[in-house]
Amino acid sequence: MTVVESISLMLGLLYAASLLYFSGKKWGAGLTVALTGAAVVAASAWPLLVGAAVAIAVLVGMKRWQPQLAQGEGRENQIRELVHHFFSLSILIVGMQYVLYHALLLNDMGGSLIRPDVVDAFLPIAGGIGIRSILTINVWDSHHPAAAVMLLTVVVSAIVCKRAFCGWACPLSLAGTYLYKLRKRFIAGDAVPPKWLDWPLRMLKYLLLIALVYIVFGMPAESLPYYLNGNYHKVADVKMGMFFLNPSLIAAIIIGIILVMAAWQQHAFCRYLCPYGAGLGLVSFLSPLKIRRDSKSCLIESRGMKCDKCSRACPARIQVHQQISIRSDECQACMRCVSACPKSAALGFSTRNNWRVSARGIAIIMLVVMFGIPLAAYAGGYWHSDVTDAIRLQLIPYLNSIGH
Ligand code: SF4
Ligand code: SF4
Repeated sequence: MTVVESISLMLGLLYAASLLYFSGKKWGAGLTVALTGAAVVAASAWPLLVGAAVAIAVLVGMKRWQPQLAQGEGRENQIRELVHHFFSLSILIVGMQYVLYHALLLNDMGGSLIRPDVVDAFLPIAGGIGIRSILTINVWDSHHPAAAVMLLTVVVSAIVCKRAFCGWACPLSLAGTYLYKLRKRFIAGDAVPPKWLDWPLRMLKYLLLIALVYIVFGMPAESLPYYLNGNYHKVADVKMGMFFLNPSLIAAIIIGIILVMAAWQQHAFCRYLCPYGAGLGLVSFLSPLKIRRDSKSCLIESRGMKCDKCSRACPARIQVHQQISIRSDECQACMRCVSACPKSAALGFSTRNNWRVSARGIAIIMLVVMFGIPLAAYAGGYWHSDVTDAIRLQLIPYLNSIGH
């Protein structure tokens, strides 16, 4: 594990422990610290110790200069934005490290920088095939194990907390939000498609998801070991990197369309094209947590007033004020509706028996799930790719001719 990955992991987990401590769940904070410490001892890797030292220094500084945020006591939007920026910044820095690693490798300077294995999170097909191989033929992928770990991690986050990954962690969704705000500074208004067009557009992401699922499950089980040991799989991350760093004309057009869509409408990429979001939307139906409106406290029923502040705040355009519980696959648990509601008892993210989870609670769940599972996988020896720089260098000249 690289130092950058280690700092992110430790910062995320220790921040979760800090939030638990300040929310009065001292046993939870102690358990998180104890499990993190046990994983660090089991992994016995010095970068994790560096990460822990940096994380403690950052949290002590945060407690001193931004005590509200260190304790998770800000408004819902503030907490979400902090966590979202933290996840996105970690991925951005790791992405830059990967680009540098790649450039050094191509210039005969391989070995100067370690490849951050977490970039395998961008290989959902490899992740899906990795999980399928473990479940069906008990073969563990040694080339990109982090792909399966990260896919499982994101799925677990959706089972617990709906599409909170999209609203709280995904760097693409944050980048889209910035692009959207930038566009609105120069061109006012929103270009929301009419309902009859919105629904078929939303189905596009499910078509892409079906294509991915077909690739993962279309392969006969007996071919899985050959695929996992094949050259295509070994350099899957290099191919993915080339797609973005040296895009073909078609890839450049696709990236351009995505950028225009993101600027054109808030969360347009998540809503219409992201197959990951589609999968998480389906899994999110399993989550016991949902945004629920209490009609006894809501201004509409309790006072007979007109109010739709929650709906107007929702970036997914869900009519929150007309529903009791939000089951929509588009809900990202972003808590904007809760933040906008003038009656604190009227709206919350809760289970059916009214166990409420605050924004701080979502932050804790996301940090523990998103960093705890990868750390456990690393400590258990299922994280690091065994594809060496020498193998990569050998295969890179044949990249275009290497197929499935
Ligand atoms: S319903 Fe609330 S939590 Fe869900 S996406 Fe809309 S604003 Fe966010
Ligand atoms: S913002 Fe709050 S009070 Fe207003 S409709 Fe929504 S839930 Fe009811």
